[in-house]
Amino acid sequence: MSSIHEITLPLKVIVGNGAINSIPSVLRELSEGKSIRIGIVTGESTYSVGGWVVEGMARGFGEVFVYRVRDSTVDTASRIAEDASIRQLDVVIGVGGGKSIDVAKYAGFKAGAVVISVPLAPSHDGIASPFASLKGGDKPYSMMTRVPYAVIADTEVISKAPRRLILSGIGDLLGKFVSVRDWELSHRLRGEYYGEYAAQLALLSAKHVLKYHDVIARGSPEGVRILVEALVSSGVAMCIAGSSRPASGSEHLFAHALELLAPGRVLHGEGVALGTIIMLYVYGDPLWRRIRGVMKKIGLPTTSVELGLPSEVLVKALTIAHTIRPERYTILGEKGLSEEAAVKVLRETGVV
Ligand code: ZN
Repeated sequence: MSSIHEITLPLKVIVGNGAINSIPSVLRELSEGKSIRIGIVTGESTYSVGGWVVEGMARGFGEVFVYRVRDSTVDTASRIAEDASIRQLDVVIGVGGGKSIDVAKYAGFKAGAVVISVPLAPSHDGIASPFASLKGGDKPYSMMTRVPYAVIADTEVISKAPRRLILSGIGDLLGKFVSVRDWELSHRLRGEYYGEYAAQLALLSAKHVLKYHDVIARGSPEGVRILVEALVSSGVAMCIAGSSRPASGSEHLFAHALELLAPGRVLHGEGVALGTIIMLYVYGDPLWRRIRGVMKKIGLPTTSVELGLPSEVLVKALTIAHTIRPERYTILGEKGLSEEAAVKVLRETGVV
């Protein structure tokens, strides 16, 4: 008998101009006419962009508690999760960028509440996945929480997000050119479960942003819609795989290493995109040149100078990347790259 594989997907994905106005109808379905307890996790600036709108809509359905977060550390997430449990929240809505949504997913998971994801920036593919990336814990990578019940992405609001966050979303998706190869490699060498469908879906999101990089980078609602749909597809690929495998390989390990060595300096998708060039080069795939060309064109950093980090930090990140998550087998193997090899790769790809 084959083993059982369970797939949990977001029930509703609502994307488009004005999508935020569908929040009341989603809450109405969840409340079934009764009063419910709703938590809203948002940031200081994201509250003024969209948090207050969501708060106003939620008020009509019962008691509302607003949590304003400054970071997505394990401490912050645990504190809100505890409060959400004590208050017996039914719904936790994450409104904002990565931090608010990650904390909301974790708090909802711990408190047994339904999670709604309302991204205000298209900076990464966690908007529709069950994985939350919390900082300052023993794991610098993302953990399994709960699949959002609904993803509500208002492209009109999101298109006003800072350009750097839009480019970061593109970067996170370009990483799938590497992560699916790493997954397949691990399947061949380690016998790890590999789902062709999930892999192809993740890959499609990368191909899609590569094809439409021009229109996305312009930041128009049309481009933002393409980006958001691709981010949701990548999140769904993770849901189908039951792990972040299709969306996170050696390019993510490198990005996580950068975040460890220089916290807060590089956006997630910026680190991932740079890791993509590097790992494609290590694979011997000429696609790295094309990706680098596109990144230069749209303004994603491709050098240590553009990142504002000394080259030693990038060398160090590349040599420790394989230690970030030892059970996740990638092109970096068990021993990773030597310092000499790392310097060579970074020079050959023009990063340093
Ligand atoms: Zn990512």
